[in-house]
Amino acid sequence: MTKDEIILANKEFLFPAVFHLYRRPLVVARAKDQYVWDADGNQYLDFLGGIVTVSVGHCNDEVNSKVHRQLDTLQHVSTLFANEPQAALARKIASLTPGGKLTKSFFTNSGTEANETAILTARCYTGSTEIIALRHSYHGRSAMGMTLTGQGTWRLGPPQAGIVHAHSAYCYRCPFGLTYPECDVRCARDVEELIRTTTTGRIAGFIAEPIQGVGGFVTPPREYFQIVEKIVRNYGGIWISDEVQTGWGRTGGKWFGIEQWGVIPDIITGAKGLANGSPIGLTVARPEVADGLKGMTLSTFGGNPVTATAAKAVIDFIEDQKLLDNCTATGAYLRARLEELKAKHELIGDVRGMGLMQALELVEDRRTKKPATAQTLMLLEAARENGLLVGKGGLYGNVIRVTPPMNIGRSDVDHFIEAMDKSLAACAAAAGSAR
Ligand code: PMP
Repeated sequence: MTKDEIILANKEFLFPAVFHLYRRPLVVARAKDQYVWDADGNQYLDFLGGIVTVSVGHCNDEVNSKVHRQLDTLQHVSTLFANEPQAALARKIASLTPGGKLTKSFFTNSGTEANETAILTARCYTGSTEIIALRHSYHGRSAMGMTLTGQGTWRLGPPQAGIVHAHSAYCYRCPFGLTYPECDVRCARDVEELIRTTTTGRIAGFIAEPIQGVGGFVTPPREYFQIVEKIVRNYGGIWISDEVQTGWGRTGGKWFGIEQWGVIPDIITGAKGLANGSPIGLTVARPEVADGLKGMTLSTFGGNPVTATAAKAVIDFIEDQKLLDNCTATGAYLRARLEELKAKHELIGDVRGMGLMQALELVEDRRTKKPATAQTLMLLEAARENGLLVGKGGLYGNVIRVTPPMNIGRSDVDHFIEAMDKSLAACAAAAGSAR
């Protein structure tokens, strides 16, 4: 098919809800490591990483050679039969979880399913139904996933019962109009008021992303989650850490984002980067919590040998190449260079994130913080023109998300900054607001 035929077929044969990032859809033909090529042969530096999914580079040789071998050995059995790749993956994951305490896994095919399984497990284990989630969160696209999600843009159809939303620690736009640290982390303490006023007081659990991904990499103050943890446990709830974006070293130095905040969760969910592009969902729990999910449930493709092989190969690659350290070191370098861009470009109101998960929040005016939503779209287009792919996020659609593969180096960051600098300058020139 030609590029135009692909675009036409998309329009004619896919739901219109399948939207594209750019005015002219980008038709991707192939990809390798940190690069992507479109149907016209143009090369792009991929600092979006397939939405935080290409964790170890596109078409990673070491991962794919194992996948190819597995594909020709045993492709599918369903969860009704045991297979070595699933068992080996589950054993490996158990050894990586915080304190080695989460040792039982349930595999599915997406982050949405992973969170569905986590909520069901929390409810079965505690015998309670009520769940606390956070505003600005994203947890999936099923009815439950959308109800957990704290952004109206991503909530379609009727919501489910039993879920309330606490304030997010969105310091740049504090919901209480306060400033850290004088605020005494009011947003965390407010969780108690939320539980006492909007629930029965016996909750099943709390679910949060350690750094909110789709919400625009909202990064809480150091003590936020520890304060919330005490409250959640006081009211009988268990802790679910949605690590779909923050897992597998992305935040630097730790396998899971929640470890940055000193909380040991009862359940961790994962997907995206775990298998570098093969569809996978993971719900891993403390054994007694996992045992609470009684009765029969199965996932036809869950833990299938090919995907499990991919995931184990990704984890092995991350270990062998010491990518947790690379996320810390190259992440710090990226952050420093993003701060330089902020010093130069008025459009950037805030730089935040951790490791190789960094964001720029764009504002029309640094004093009023009016979201620069239209300019964000312009910047995405300009970046594309300059051979660079980045993501968009935030409730107001004004956050640029930067999540390259975790095995990039400083020269890739330099290349990225150069293209971003040019793109920001082009936007400023178009808006007539160059300094
Ligand atoms: N949780 C988080 C934190 C996510 O970012 C996403 C996807 N953006 C999901 C859950 C849902 O994952 P999936 O799209 O694989 O269902």
